Amino acid sequence: MQDPILLDPFGRRISYLRLSVTDRCDFRCTYCMSEDMVFAPRAQILSLEELYTVADAFIGLGVKRIRITGGEPLVRKNLLSLLGRLGARSELEDLAITTNGSQLASMASGLRAAGVRRLNISLDSLQRERFAAFTRRDQLTQVLAGIEAARAAGFQRIKLNTVVQKGRNDDEVEALVAFAVAQQLDISFIEEMPLGNISSHSREHTLCSSDEVRERIEQRFQLLPSSHRTGGPSRYWQVVGSDTRVGFISPHSRNFCGDCNRVRVTAEGQLVLCLGSDGALDLKALLRRHPGDAARLRGALIEALRLKPERHYFDAREQVQVVRFMSMTGG
Ligand code: SAM
Ligand code: SF4
Repeated sequence: MQDPILLDPFGRRISYLRLSVTDRCDFRCTYCMSEDMVFAPRAQILSLEELYTVADAFIGLGVKRIRITGGEPLVRKNLLSLLGRLGARSELEDLAITTNGSQLASMASGLRAAGVRRLNISLDSLQRERFAAFTRRDQLTQVLAGIEAARAAGFQRIKLNTVVQKGRNDDEVEALVAFAVAQQLDISFIEEMPLGNISSHSREHTLCSSDEVRERIEQRFQLLPSSHRTGGPSRYWQVVGSDTRVGFISPHSRNFCGDCNRVRVTAEGQLVLCLGSDGALDLKALLRRHPGDAARLRGALIEALRLKPERHYFDAREQVQVVRFMSMTGG
């Protein structure tokens, strides 16, 4: 008999899980959280054992790539023990983390030893005051030290993630690419999504399309289209004369749902089938009602996939379309 796999009603095979290990964070990025964000009580958050059980069920259903995210994943206590267990799973082709980089200086080598293969590090500005305005934390120096530590630990193809906002950091995209080239990193520029209710800015006014960002970069760098794919929604371009790839994640201007291969599990154990919809299945309730029942969990995942929407519909004129913040869903 063939091994069971996860298929949605549109024939898309799910091979990629984004697993959030905490909703907490040491930053308060304006596009992601409000200043006075209220986090879930600890009892509501999946334990490390429950997180492993969920990951194990997905691996059993053919998932080959797992990205650990949050909130800020590196603030989760004893994360390395979970990563070590996942890093030892030979079925996984990729174990990656998305981090804000604040803890990397002390953790990079431990992550590598645990079997993490790829790192995405968020960086919206190289200017101290701007960085502090984006994150509401004055920690650019720590993040730059974290990037350095990750390189020193031997991580290859580290990727920076930059959310671009008009009038706030769109004039810095060339400098960010120059930084990526000098540090031999890749970099993806992201269009802001209407996730969670924020009061710091009007998303309609700050939205900066990937095409505008690319045109700016091309004033200083030559870009060639690249066929490179990482299993994520980025479309890549090669910076001529360097190793650096520039990616664009364009949830507004270029719908990438047709080849969606992923689902997300929140730190509270909600299975989220699409970033652009509020629907979710409560895996935590199932895990706690039927502890140790791996077959039931796998069955619930297969069943839930029937409800995966065909695509998201983001509208920049709407300040919020999905009430879950990105920090809750896991970016
Ligand atoms: N804390 C980690 C970090 O910042 O890298 C991981 C979680 S964070 C939610 C993952 C990614 O989501 C970050 O690159 C962040 O910039 C991005 N993000 C958060 N809110 C967003 C939004 N409303 N639109 C687009 N990207 C967003
Ligand atoms: Fe924290 Fe990441 Fe959200 Fe910024 S984007 S507040 S670092 S979870």
